[in-house]
Amino acid sequence: MSQPGIPAFGGTLTSLQAQNGAASASGSPYTNGPIQNALMSSQGYNSQLPGSYPHLIPAKTLNPVSGQSTYGGPQTVSPLSSYQRPGQTLHRPPVASTPVTSSLHSGPVPRMPQHTSHNSAAIPMPSVSFHPGANLPPPLNWQYNYPSAGSQTNDCPNVSSGPTMSGNTNLTSHQYVSSGDPSLQNNFIKSGITSSTNNGSLVVHNNYDEIEGGGFLATPQLTNKNPTISRSVGYSYPSLPPGYQNTTPPSTTGMPPSSLSYPSGPQAFSQMPLGANHLTASMSGLSLHPEGLRVINLLQERNMLPSTPLQPPVPNLHEDIQRLNCNPELFRCTLTSIPQTQALLNKAKLPLGLLLHPFKDLVQLPVVTSSTIVRCRSCRTYINPFVSFLDQRRWKCNLCYQVNDVPEEFMYNPLTRAYGEPHRRPEVQNATIEFMAPSEYMLRPPQPPVYLFVFDVSHNAVETGYLTSVCQSLLDNLDLLPGNTRTKIGFITFDSTIHFYSLQEGLSQPQMLIVSDIEDVFIPMPENLLVNLNESKELVQDLLKTLPQMFTKTLETQSALGPALQAAFKLMSPTGGRMSVFQTQLPTLGVGALKPREEPNQRSSAKEIHLTPSTDFYKKLALDCSGQQVAVDLFLLSGQYSDLASLGCISRYSAGSVYYYPSYHHQHNPVQVQKLQKELQRYLTRKIGFEAVMRIRCTKGLSIHTFHGNFFVRSTDLLSLPNVNPDAGYAVQMSVEESLMDTQLVSFQSALLYTSSKGERRIRVHTLCLPVVSTLNEVFLGADVQAISGLLANMAVDRSVTASLSDARDALVNAVIDSLSAYRSSVLSNHQPGLMVPFSLRLFPLFVLALLKQKSFQTGTNARLDERIFAMCQVKNQPLVHLMLTTHPNLYRVDNLSDEGALNINDRTIPQPPILQLSVEKLSRDGAFLMDAGSVLMLWVGKNCGQHFFSQVLGVQSYALIPQTMTDLPELDTPESARTVAFICWLREQRPFFPVLYVIRDESPMKANFLQNMVEDRTESALSYYEFLLHIQQQVNK
Ligand SMILES: [Zn+2]
Repeated sequence: MSQPGIPAFGGTLTSLQAQNGAASASGSPYTNGPIQNALMSSQGYNSQLPGSYPHLIPAKTLNPVSGQSTYGGPQTVSPLSSYQRPGQTLHRPPVASTPVTSSLHSGPVPRMPQHTSHNSAAIPMPSVSFHPGANLPPPLNWQYNYPSAGSQTNDCPNVSSGPTMSGNTNLTSHQYVSSGDPSLQNNFIKSGITSSTNNGSLVVHNNYDEIEGGGFLATPQLTNKNPTISRSVGYSYPSLPPGYQNTTPPSTTGMPPSSLSYPSGPQAFSQMPLGANHLTASMSGLSLHPEGLRVINLLQERNMLPSTPLQPPVPNLHEDIQRLNCNPELFRCTLTSIPQTQALLNKAKLPLGLLLHPFKDLVQLPVVTSSTIVRCRSCRTYINPFVSFLDQRRWKCNLCYQVNDVPEEFMYNPLTRAYGEPHRRPEVQNATIEFMAPSEYMLRPPQPPVYLFVFDVSHNAVETGYLTSVCQSLLDNLDLLPGNTRTKIGFITFDSTIHFYSLQEGLSQPQMLIVSDIEDVFIPMPENLLVNLNESKELVQDLLKTLPQMFTKTLETQSALGPALQAAFKLMSPTGGRMSVFQTQLPTLGVGALKPREEPNQRSSAKEIHLTPSTDFYKKLALDCSGQQVAVDLFLLSGQYSDLASLGCISRYSAGSVYYYPSYHHQHNPVQVQKLQKELQRYLTRKIGFEAVMRIRCTKGLSIHTFHGNFFVRSTDLLSLPNVNPDAGYAVQMSVEESLMDTQLVSFQSALLYTSSKGERRIRVHTLCLPVVSTLNEVFLGADVQAISGLLANMAVDRSVTASLSDARDALVNAVIDSLSAYRSSVLSNHQPGLMVPFSLRLFPLFVLALLKQKSFQTGTNARLDERIFAMCQVKNQPLVHLMLTTHPNLYRVDNLSDEGALNINDRTIPQPPILQLSVEKLSRDGAFLMDAGSVLMLWVGKNCGQHFFSQVLGVQSYALIPQTMTDLPELDTPESARTVAFICWLREQRPFFPVLYVIRDESPMKANFLQNMVEDRTESALSYYEFLLHIQQQVNK
C-alpha cells in the first residue's frame, strides 16, 4: 500500500506528469494519452495541414475509363449509368481551396496546478423567504424544453410531468418578453447562439480550452505539493487505487427508479441548506438502514443477488441536498462517501472514480437561454445547486471556494418573475441543465451537420449483401437524420480504387468518379461530393437505390481502406462531421494495409495475443480527424479476422464507436441482418452533437488523472469529442490530492459543450454532490459496487493492453482480495471465520467473477480475437448500466408470468418476474427462462416446458416444432402471450439499441452462449462462484 510521502510508482517527476493527465496516456491506446502535438501535426502519411491540402495536390488528368476493367488507369470519371462504358476524359478539376478555420489544437497545453485558495468550510446561506408563487405563467424569455416522450426512443415511458413551462420546443424561435424590471431586459437576448453568428465577425478563440475555460487555471501554481500520493493510483492498478467511500447505507428501498427520482425539472423550491450549519443537520440526518449496516458472511449467505434490479446507493446527504442531486444514471461515483484523505482511500483499497453518461437521452431537460452564463471567475465552474450564497449578491464556488458576485441579471428569477432570489434560479435548482451558449463559446460559426458514408464494395463485401440493408435503412431514415436545411451528405465507395459520387443539384443522375491512384489520393470536384441533402435529395435516393446493384459482378478482392479513409478525411476537413465506415475484411492495399495476426491455437491462451494495434496509421489518422472535428464510426461486418485492434483506433481516438457483426450474411445469418437494421435505425436517427469538448471538474483537493472512453485528450483534462452521441459512456479515475478535512461536501461537474444538429451551440452541465467521511467503515458503507466493477473493467482493459491479459485478470482478483482484506483487518474487530463483507460489497466477488468470464477477459475459450477486442471496446464505450448487464445478465423464469407485482405503464401491464442467480441449478426442464444480456435476449425453452407454453406463447404445438432459428415471438390472443410479449418489449425499451431475441432449444447452437453466461457455475477453465469465494477467503484470511 502506498502511503503519503512514499511514491508507489515512479518518482516525483513522473507523478507530476501523470497527474496532469499525460502519463495515463502514454502507452495504452485506450487511454488516449497525451496527445503529442508532434502526432497532431506530424508530416508523412497524409497530414496535409488543414486547409492546405488542396494546394499540395499536383494537377492530374483523369483518364478515360471503361468499366472495371480499366481500374488500372489513374483517375477516371464516368457517369453512373455508363459505369460499364468508356467515360469521358476529365482534367482534374481545380480543387477549391476551402478555407479551414484556424487550427483547433494550437496553444499552450495548460497544466492543472493545485489551487491555492483556502479551503474553508462552506458558509451557510442566509435563509431567504420563499414566496409561494409557483403557478406564475412561464416567462417567455426562458425556455424549458421538455422533449416529448415520443421523441425519446427508449426512455422510460412513465414520464413524470414536470412543470410545463413552455410548450414551445423550438429553441431558436423563442423571444424575449420584457418582464418586470426594465433594467433586466437587455440582459436577455434572443436565443444565444443562432442570433449571434454575425458573419464570422465573432470572437475566435485559439482553442477550445480557452473557450470552455480551464480548470483551476486561475492559480497557476504548477508545483505539485504532494506528488507522492497522486500516482499511486494510476499505475499501481494491481494494488488498486485506494480510496473509496461509502457513506450512506442505501435507504430501505434503495434508489427509486430513476425516472421517478430525477428531479422533475425546475421546481419552485425553498432554499437548500448548504451552509455549515446545515451540514451538521445533514450528518445527523444520516439514516442508516439496518440492512446496509450488516456484515455478511458470503460463505453462508451465498445468494445475495436481489430479485429486482440492483439500485445505486443513495449518498448520505441531507434530503434537501440529495433531492437536487444528479441522477445516478448520468453521473455516478464508485464511492458515494468520499474519503477525507488519500491515506484513507489507500486503506480501503477501492478505486475512486466517476462513471458518466453525459449525453443520455433525457425525458426532460431544463434549457436556459440567457446572455450571461454564471460561472466561477476562478475555476470556471458553472453555478449549480451546491454553491452557497453568502448573501443575495455573492455566491461561493463549491469547487474552489472562490467568492463570486451575483450578476445583476441573475437577481431576477424568470420562473417566478421575482427579483432578489438568485438561489431559486433554474441553474441553482437543477443538477442537470443545458445552456444555450453565446458566441464566446464558439471557435467558428456552428457547422452544418455533415454525414459521409464510406462503403467497402470489394467482392467480399458484395458477398455479404450488407449494402442492400444499409442503403435501404438510409432510404428509410433519410428524412430523420438529425439536422436542418443545412445538412450535408456524401458517399464514397472503395475496393482497390476509390469511387466518389457527384450529387450536384441539377444533375440528372449521380456521377461516379473513380480515383485509382491510392498512393496520392486527391478529391475530384470536392464541392459536388458533399451536397446539401435537401437540394440533392432525389440524387441521393437514386444513388442509394442503385448502389447495391452496381458492384454485384465485381471480382475485385482487394481493400484500400486506408486511402479511402484519407480521402474521406480530406473531404470532411473543412466542416467536420460524422464519417460512417463499413468494412468487411482486412485492408490489403495502400497505407494502413494489415496482415493477419491471429493464431487460432492461441485463442484460449491468456498470453501472446495481439491486443495492441499493429500500425499507428489508424490512430494518427484519427487524431487528424479529431483536430478537424471529424468522428469516425466503424461498422465491421466480417467473418474473418480483420484486426479490430488496429482498425478500432480510428474510432477510439476520434470519439466514434465500433459496431461489429461477425459472420454477417444477408441469407445465412438473418439475425445479424435484423440486428444491423435495428441498430442502424437508432444510429441514423439518434441525437448527435458536433464539435464537442467535455471537461470534468472536481472540488479542490480531488484530482482526476485517467480517462476512459472514446475521445482524445486535447489538453490536460479537456476531452475532444468531434461527435457526441447519447449512447456513449465515460469513466475517470481520481485521487485525493489534499486533505478534505475542512470540508464536508465535495462536488463533481461535467460540462459538455457541443453544436446541436440544428446549429445551436449548447452546454450540458451535470453536477454531483457527495459527502466526505473520515472513517474506513463509512467509506465501505457507501461503496457503489456496480460503479466499482465498471471502473475496474475499464482499468483491466488498459492493463490487458499495456501488460497482459493474465495481469489484468490477476488485478481484478486482487482488487477483491485487497479491499476485503482491508475491511477485515481495519474495520472488523471480531475476526470470525468465513468471508466477511460489508453489505455494500456483497456482490463484489460475484461481479468480478463475472468480469473474469466476460468475453473481454475470459480464458480457455475459443473466443475470436476480434470478438474479444470488440468486447473490450464495449467496456470502454458503454454506459455503466449496459456494461453491467453484459457482464452479469439478468435471468428470469417466464413460463409462469403473472400480473402479481406487475408494473402498469400507459395501460400496459408488465410482469416483473424475480431475477434468478446465474446457475444451471436455477433452470429446469419444465420451464422457460429468459436471459437479458444487454445486447441480446436469449429464451431457453425446456423440453418439458409444457404444451401450454408452446401453444399459448410460442404458437407451436410441440417442442419439436419450435423452429431452429426463431427470433421473434408471435403476438397471440392469449394472456400468456400478452404478458411475455409485454415483458420483452419493456426490456427492449430500457436500452437504446434493439436487443435481438433468440429462442433456444437444447440442440440450438446458441445454447452454448446461454450457458456461458451462467457465471456462478464451474467451467473447464474457470471456478464456480463458490470456489471463487473459497479462494478469496483463503487469501483474505492469510
Ligand atoms: Zn470556483
